[in-house]
Amino acid sequence: MTGAAGFIGANFVHYWLQTYSGDRVVALDALTYAGNRANLNPVECNPNFVFCHGNICDTALVERLLREHEIDTLVHFAAESHVDRSIIGPDAFIETNIIGTHSLLKAAKQVWLEEGQQRQTHRFHHVSTDEVYGSLGPADPPFSEATAYAPNSPYSASKAASDHLVRAYHHTYGLNVTTSNCSNNYGPYHFPEKLIPLVITNILQDKPLPVYGDGQQIRDWLYVEDHVRGIERVIKRGRLGESYNIGGNNEWTNINIVTLICSLMNQRFAGQPALRQRYPAACSAIAGQAETLIQYVEDRKGHDRRYAIAPEKSNRELGYRPQESFESGIRKTIDWYLANDQWWRAILDGSYRQGASEGCHSQ
Ligand code: NAD
Repeated sequence: MTGAAGFIGANFVHYWLQTYSGDRVVALDALTYAGNRANLNPVECNPNFVFCHGNICDTALVERLLREHEIDTLVHFAAESHVDRSIIGPDAFIETNIIGTHSLLKAAKQVWLEEGQQRQTHRFHHVSTDEVYGSLGPADPPFSEATAYAPNSPYSASKAASDHLVRAYHHTYGLNVTTSNCSNNYGPYHFPEKLIPLVITNILQDKPLPVYGDGQQIRDWLYVEDHVRGIERVIKRGRLGESYNIGGNNEWTNINIVTLICSLMNQRFAGQPALRQRYPAACSAIAGQAETLIQYVEDRKGHDRRYAIAPEKSNRELGYRPQESFESGIRKTIDWYLANDQWWRAILDGSYRQGASEGCHSQ
């Protein structure tokens, strides 16, 4: 797999090794700013886990890993994933999301097809986003797998290009592929530059809660473990060459999410002296007024107004249903950030970067 030290990749590794304890997971990750070795602490001592520090653009390295470990399932998470960063500096997005995905496809083609290893059970699964479909109006039906691609940001355009390459390698060369396009994720190990962890960690530090534009942008949110279960279903049951949308029919405006988190944080601190002592800086939440930290800021350039996923195909073909309700998922997420303040503080002060290491090793 690629991108194991990132948000969704790390959740996938934990789930997979718990669920399939006999499987071996080989993780390739470049440990960019978004990759954090601490995300993998729970599996570092697992003998079935191998970590390799390297770049997906290094095709020779990928080929070597495929051969040496006889990898039959390549799950591809690695990406530059933050839309705001893609607006400031698109180059890294083109490099990793397009060239990097192509490098993986070339390596899989070489080892699985040209060296004759590909069996029915071999699979290249590409993890993608609903942002490839562009933006919806308020009355538009949600994105289905038949919706035409219309990406609007450098991030979504680079993911769209990677989706097309994956599809092309199936149709042209017969590589066994599947793709999943998921809505916005939230949950443990989410880098605190993204909306939900940013709001939680800023409340804990009594910092302003920035809301873009009028805050009425709509996203369809899914708890990260529900995404991981969806990927599992596609890997196990998805038809080769097909794409599956994964989502939970859970549309929220940004401002409503921020106010929900504020009210849950106010409740979380109410009558909890130990928590108040642990987070004395969270004075607005301690006073039951976290929402006073909300500040509207200039809107993101080209900000898509609404995303929404129609998950009927994955419901029907894969029997997929998300398990977590939004409020309980947000409560779990808040509790995770409260219990793991060392994790997010190390990101905020930059010390998490010291965990990067060279080479490949299993523990
Ligand atoms: P993330 O930014 O948290 O993690 C990305 C990981 O990829 C990091 O560990 C990073 O070190 C690694 N990486 C980046 N460039 C690399 C390279 N060139 N070579 C090797 N490793 C590299 O991302 P995420 O939020 O976990 O997203 C994972 C995947 O899921 C992405 O493909 C993303 O497009 C997709 N996705 C994300 C969401 C979401 O809400 N986060 C929703 C739908 C789809």
